[in-house]
Amino acid sequence: MGILLDCHSHSSYSFDAHDSLEAMCEQAIKLGLQAYAVTDHCECNGYYDAQHYGKQPNEFEVFGCAKTTQMSIEHTTRLKEKLDGKLNLICGVELGQATFDLEAAENVVCDKRLDYVIASMHQLPNTLDFYFLKYEDPSKVPAMMYAYYEEILKLCQWGKFDTLAHLTYPLRYIEGEHAIKADLRNCRELTTEILRTLAQKGKSLEINTSGYRQKYGKAFPEAEHLKMFREFGGEFISLGADSHRTSDIAAGILDGIEFAKNAGFKYAVYYREHEPKAIKL
Ligand SMILES: [Zn+2]
Ligand SMILES: [Zn+2]
Repeated sequence: MGILLDCHSHSSYSFDAHDSLEAMCEQAIKLGLQAYAVTDHCECNGYYDAQHYGKQPNEFEVFGCAKTTQMSIEHTTRLKEKLDGKLNLICGVELGQATFDLEAAENVVCDKRLDYVIASMHQLPNTLDFYFLKYEDPSKVPAMMYAYYEEILKLCQWGKFDTLAHLTYPLRYIEGEHAIKADLRNCRELTTEILRTLAQKGKSLEINTSGYRQKYGKAFPEAEHLKMFREFGGEFISLGADSHRTSDIAAGILDGIEFAKNAGFKYAVYYREHEPKAIKL
């Protein structure tokens, strides 16, 4: 068994993914994964439908995540039973921007069918996803990153999740796509506080391996973040390829495992009813 686990993936219940849940699970079985989590998007700032927000979504917005999340959880729960013995399937969700609508977020996380909640931040309040921004004025990047980490710290203080996903997400676009070197010196205190909070609360830190197959060329987060998390007593590492199609399932996980081992981690975890289960690396 080469590749061990993949705990971050999207089926076609996610607005930006391509393949059906069945096809994703079939591929996970083919790869012989010891654990595989489906974590479709639930963007909390787009939880309700257009009527709730009193406007139609523009091209950058996603509304109606309550509905698609329910569909993903319901279908994954059925498949868990159907594939029992064939696939260690974990029913998860990627909870985006929880701090923008904590009521919506709490509606999601209390669902008893969920094994696993990963929390992430794809945008700042009143702006677009980092994916859509143009970064025309690179001098604004440090302040943007500072605001991003402030929001992540708020998210960690709220803490109703299992894993913090792709801590350095904006760098996928800033450094990867736009080749702007981000000066993060002013963010150091905040990232330290984020990692301390995660460790103290017994949360896991995700190594997201999608960066290996993108222009960014590295995992999210940085090696120094893993080391700091460990120094604060953080025990749990999660590994996810963040695939949005079958062909990316478990992509880069072997590199992610090496990355984790180099930072001193001996096992990764997956979750069952929000309880961490260790797999030796
Ligand atoms: Zn994400
Ligand atoms: Zn994702």
